[in-house]
Amino acid sequence: NSILKKSVMALVAVASISLVSTGAMADAKNPKIGFSIDDLRVERWARDRDFFTAAAEKLGAKVFVQSADASEARQISQIENLISRGVDVIVIVPFNATVLTNTIKEAKKAGIKVVSYDRLILNADVDAYISFDNEKVGEMQAEGVVKAQPKGNFYLLGGSPTDNNAKMLREGQMKVLKPYIDKGDIKIVGQQWVKDWNPTEALSIVENALTANNNKIDAIVASNDGTAGGAIQALAAQKLAGKVPVSGQDADLAAVKRVVAGTQTMTVYKPLKLIASEAANLSVQLARNEKPSYNSQYDNGFKKVDTVLLKPTPLTKANVNILVDDGFYTQAQISGK
Ligand code: BGC
Repeated sequence: NSILKKSVMALVAVASISLVSTGAMADAKNPKIGFSIDDLRVERWARDRDFFTAAAEKLGAKVFVQSADASEARQISQIENLISRGVDVIVIVPFNATVLTNTIKEAKKAGIKVVSYDRLILNADVDAYISFDNEKVGEMQAEGVVKAQPKGNFYLLGGSPTDNNAKMLREGQMKVLKPYIDKGDIKIVGQQWVKDWNPTEALSIVENALTANNNKIDAIVASNDGTAGGAIQALAAQKLAGKVPVSGQDADLAAVKRVVAGTQTMTVYKPLKLIASEAANLSVQLARNEKPSYNSQYDNGFKKVDTVLLKPTPLTKANVNILVDDGFYTQAQISGK
């Protein structure tokens, strides 16, 4: 019996050694990638996940996806879990840009490459960042609204205060609005960051803003489509939907329908298949110790992070067809009820 036990144990030992060594040998050809996403309950991130996984698998990688559902503690423990699974690369859409310093230090100690996806992780040793030009997105949002309403009382509905993109968007928006404010044509009557980019929170913020201003709000610069949806619901309750220009971002299906219907002035189209497949490519290259090509750098407080910056496109009723041409939606999806 004890001889049997011993030989079983020896077998187990041999098996696990060989598992470890094939694992290590397979790394370059079949890298393991962890994808830690802030919140898969949000439409765009679910599409990012699908495009990313498809592209990475095509390159021979295996992808492990985790959703933190807007909890920074959950995201940290999910990243720790990916570290202990022995992945080669961790791609992160951070919920909170400023709390991952130590977790990323652990990952780097374990020899794992770290990619900051869409949102920049601050004060941490990340290997690469990939995003659309967020300042440009902010400019497009303000330009879209100003084109429809060059004067009056403006309300600024910002993104989540834990998301570095929210600040970059605001910088872009202000770049466009400042000359109008200085001239006295535009007055900012209020501004608020929307916790977790939550549409319901946006709805109540705009309800309150309308009440506080006796409904005298002439335009709303909203930082994404989810929050624009909340804002437009608040406007609709006052019979103001379609009269007050509202911006957005993401080309969410509901938002594209609102753009067609005229209740949302514009959105910003960011081809998610592009960012996801570029990120997959970048991750596999990092896993294979190859040098990816970058076109920008961002200082995240820890270092200048090599960055791939992609181009966003402003979208109005006039060019909504590019979504169909690009395969982002079918015509039936856009015109469907
Ligand atoms: C992204 C937007 C998204 C928002 C809410 C931002 O960081 O850039 O595309 O709408 O987060 O998830």
